[in-house]
Amino acid sequence: MTVLFASDLDQTLIYSRNSMGMEVTEDELIEVERYEGKPLSFMTKKSQSKLWNINESAFFLPVTTRTQAQYERVTGIFEGSQSPRFAVISNGAVILENGQPIKEWSDGIRQQCVSRKTIIRELLPEIERHFSEDWVLKVREADDWFVYLIVDRARFPEDKLDFYTTTFKKLGWGMSLQGRKLYFMPESITKAAAMEYVKERLGASYVFAAGDSLLDLDLLESADYSMLASHGEAVRSAVPVSEHIHQTQKHGIKAGEEILARVAEISLQRK
Ligand SMILES: [Mg+2]
Repeated sequence: MTVLFASDLDQTLIYSRNSMGMEVTEDELIEVERYEGKPLSFMTKKSQSKLWNINESAFFLPVTTRTQAQYERVTGIFEGSQSPRFAVISNGAVILENGQPIKEWSDGIRQQCVSRKTIIRELLPEIERHFSEDWVLKVREADDWFVYLIVDRARFPEDKLDFYTTTFKKLGWGMSLQGRKLYFMPESITKAAAMEYVKERLGASYVFAAGDSLLDLDLLESADYSMLASHGEAVRSAVPVSEHIHQTQKHGIKAGEEILARVAEISLQRK
């Protein structure tokens, strides 16, 4: 029986200095991403060896909102230098097979976005209408799929988040606030749908999923067993979730270790 381990990366398996928490020493860390010459993301050495060993009993599928360029900066989640057979990137708009995007998949997603009018060109005027405030530092477009704002969290009006969420949901866009990034995601772009495609291709029969943000919830809901990092946006926003979704006991980078220990346990049981 093939177990598919479909996991988010940032703040689930890999962590920046700001998000890793206090319960870790320098000796425990290993760098997994470098950006502009500086180390940006880390795992614990323990997590890395657990992740590498998982391949003996499960199939590891990265499922990330990172674009291809951002994803390709992450090294060290796979042993050796070969691209993994599959990776879900751009929140599910793109699936890489042996490092190359599957064109038919993205074409299908594009068609859905166009027919539902959830394309960036339609969104930008709405963003301008609602967010003229001085807390928007930058507006970034992710490979023509979705948009994220870099916001000044100190000035961001948290109390208005529910209102914005409802407003943009009506237009077909899901919102997610992760650190300094405020994402606007077309409803047709989901991690769950891309995971289901890979699950089918692999003939996997059981899915273990992990994540931390609101953008991960559809993935976690569609899996058989899921873990939600307790430090994340999804737990903070207190959205009701199904019983097969379990919160980690640990916070920060140690939650990553906890998730990987649980995957190893479950995939060995099901082997
Ligand atoms: Mg995340």
